[in-house]
Amino acid sequence: MAKVAFLGLGVMGCPMARHLKAKGHEVTVYNRTASKAEQWTSEHGGRSATTPREAAQGQEIVFACVGNDDDLRQVTLGSDGAFQGMSAGAIFVDHTTASAEVARELDAAAREKGFSFIDAPVSGGQAGAENGVLTVMCGGDQEAYARAEPAIMSFARASRLMGPAGSGQLTKMINQICIAGLVQGLAEGIHFGKKAGLDIEAVLEVISKGAAGSWQMENRGKTMNQGKFDFGFAVDWMRKDLSIVLGEARKNGASLPVTAIVDQFYAEVQAMGGKRWDTSSLIARLEK
Ligand code: NAP
Repeated sequence: MAKVAFLGLGVMGCPMARHLKAKGHEVTVYNRTASKAEQWTSEHGGRSATTPREAAQGQEIVFACVGNDDDLRQVTLGSDGAFQGMSAGAIFVDHTTASAEVARELDAAAREKGFSFIDAPVSGGQAGAENGVLTVMCGGDQEAYARAEPAIMSFARASRLMGPAGSGQLTKMINQICIAGLVQGLAEGIHFGKKAGLDIEAVLEVISKGAAGSWQMENRGKTMNQGKFDFGFAVDWMRKDLSIVLGEARKNGASLPVTAIVDQFYAEVQAMGGKRWDTSSLIARLEK
């Protein structure tokens, strides 16, 4: 069992830290809004710290799950940032969905100070975090990854080292590219079926068993048909992720026409008041 810290007790971080504690790791938590950290320790035990630096001191592994690149820089590189408190030989594991660029930047900063950095974005959403069945895509060096993997598996069903720093974030970008086009296709299928006067639930039931079947169809088809979007992965987060994807594609020359247009469709959903709706809300703009 390891001495660990967890920075960022949001929708994802809160249950991830809980799983670490439940598996017997010694957990110190930090959250920008301190009341959340106090509530976490009152419910689960452990210790809370008032800064990322204090939380990181003396830990073997420091986990983080904050919002975006800038948030991540704040909790790591700032004067009260975790990187000021990390011990030599320790590992910083970042579960934020961020750019590959910030991962490489933090990897270099960590090396200079004598500890390791692993970019480790996750897939599986709030339910995956609550149930401890996330998929984790990692970038970093093999030796540090091997040491961190047992603790990562406290809240994951699968975790894999994909290559050097930034490779976890690049893999997560592919995940989001695949979801964007697929959800739009599913939205168009359901929209078409309604116009054709078919029983959509019956349609989804039969076609989900064939080549059109997908996680999105299984888990979101019914709620898309019902116009229910007040759950799941928020459109604001998806636009943040697609902006990272499109920025990377500008650099590596990949052609992503569908991803680019779906990003614009999500901008329309935001304008309709759907910033916090689930990503399956793409269907709402077809039906407005
Ligand atoms: P969230 O509920 O909004 O939580 C964000 C956490 O980060 C909060 O603890 C927040 O602190 C902290 N934070 C944000 N900016 C900060 C800063 N500048 N300094 C210090 N702390 C800061 O978000 P979430 O849903 O847990 O998502 C976290 C990350 O996981 C994002 O990168 C997201 O894209 C990714 N992700 C989310 C899901 C999902 O389904 N939600 C799925 C996969 C990946 P406060 O409490 O003080 O605001």
